[in-house]
Amino acid sequence: MKTVVLKFGGTSVGSIDRIKKVCKIIAFYKKKKNRVAVVSSAMSGVTNELVNKSKSISNNFDKAEYDTLVSTGEQVSCALIAGRLKHEGFKSRSWVSWQLPIFTEGPHSSARISSIGIKELSGYIKTGGIPVITGFQGIGKDLRITTIGRSGSDATAIILAKFLKADECIIYTDVDGVYTTDPRDYKKARKIKKIFYDEMLEMASLGSKVMQPTSVQDAKLNNIDVEVKSSFVKSSGTLITGSKKSFSNQIITGISSTKNDAKITIVGVKDKPGIAASIFRPLSKNLINVDMVVQNISQNGKETDLTFTIRAEDLKKTEKLIKKNKSISYKELSFDKGLSKVSIIGVGMITTPGITYRMFKALSSKKINILVISTSEIKISVLVSAKNVKKAVAVLHKEFKLD
Ligand code: ADP
Ligand code: ASP
Ligand code: MG
Repeated sequence: MKTVVLKFGGTSVGSIDRIKKVCKIIAFYKKKKNRVAVVSSAMSGVTNELVNKSKSISNNFDKAEYDTLVSTGEQVSCALIAGRLKHEGFKSRSWVSWQLPIFTEGPHSSARISSIGIKELSGYIKTGGIPVITGFQGIGKDLRITTIGRSGSDATAIILAKFLKADECIIYTDVDGVYTTDPRDYKKARKIKKIFYDEMLEMASLGSKVMQPTSVQDAKLNNIDVEVKSSFVKSSGTLITGSKKSFSNQIITGISSTKNDAKITIVGVKDKPGIAASIFRPLSKNLINVDMVVQNISQNGKETDLTFTIRAEDLKKTEKLIKKNKSISYKELSFDKGLSKVSIIGVGMITTPGITYRMFKALSSKKINILVISTSEIKISVLVSAKNVKKAVAVLHKEFKLD
């Protein structure tokens, strides 16, 4: 008998009608004699509404209360799913994370799951019950509610699959798999049959929101194959795996893009050891994520220019922190908003020369100016003006034969 973990995202449980449909999918697995555990997100839009409520109470809302608040959406959807399954004659009940418990480590709103108590849960599943478990949350050592980052239900499902030693972990969402690029933004995107963990991790981290990046890392670390499927249409999905069996020989697997980047350039900073650390220390303390960094080679050996990117919403705070940073001096500070990062991803680039050239040539053919470049073994990212993103994705999609 197989054990399957089924995770449903916000749009999949976005209305009463959708919840009834989701229960039909669950029933399908149950009727095929599987042992089934369900993880659900909140109904779509609910978590955002809760976040907005916290903001309207205080612009410095208490972090622990924030997690207690924003985790409530999942309790609603799980109770509705379990209630509907019972209505249809199945044995089912909801489990809120602290009832298992799901223990987490790390700070509020970006904690990570460290363990899941499965004793009672396993017994319940063995006797034919369908547990419906709240995604996105857990409890810390102090027993207070924590959340594990936006879109965190993906990670809950994957870690639950680990602890239950499940045979399958299926992420049901509103697209029927992982595509070469966001299918909502580019109609010629194609579904990818199989994708390596590392590629999915890069795509997710670089803006493809179909999977939460942390969850892909969890899948990789625990060697859990994950299938991404649609809860709306019946079709085969995408397998995220480490196995090398039957992969296509595509050089570039996918293209990701971000929407809201900002660039900061500090002109004429002293070129001496430790200066970059002095600039970035206060940013890191304030949990500002610095992404691409470029330091020019100093012309006179005394001064240099440093450019880096952050999320646009962190721009004001970053500006303040740099201006009040007494340990650095510089000639000029400049800021740029309305930028986007476009990335091509594929393990094939490790063994194929000339990919960087092809990328830059394709972009220049559309007169797209590249502001910053960063690379890793399996990705090349460029920063461009946000107004050029669609054009950039389209020309790269074509250049690397993904259309
Ligand atoms: P859920 O609520 O089910 O977790 P998400 O909104 O988190 O769903 O993720 C699904 C969305 O991810 C899709 O609607 C799609 O627009 C977006 N997306 C971005 N990049 C990709 C991609 N490469 N392949 C598929 N979907 C993508
Ligand atoms: N409901 C949470 C969010 O909107 C978690 C999730 O959807 O996975 O971020
Ligand atoms: Mg999601």
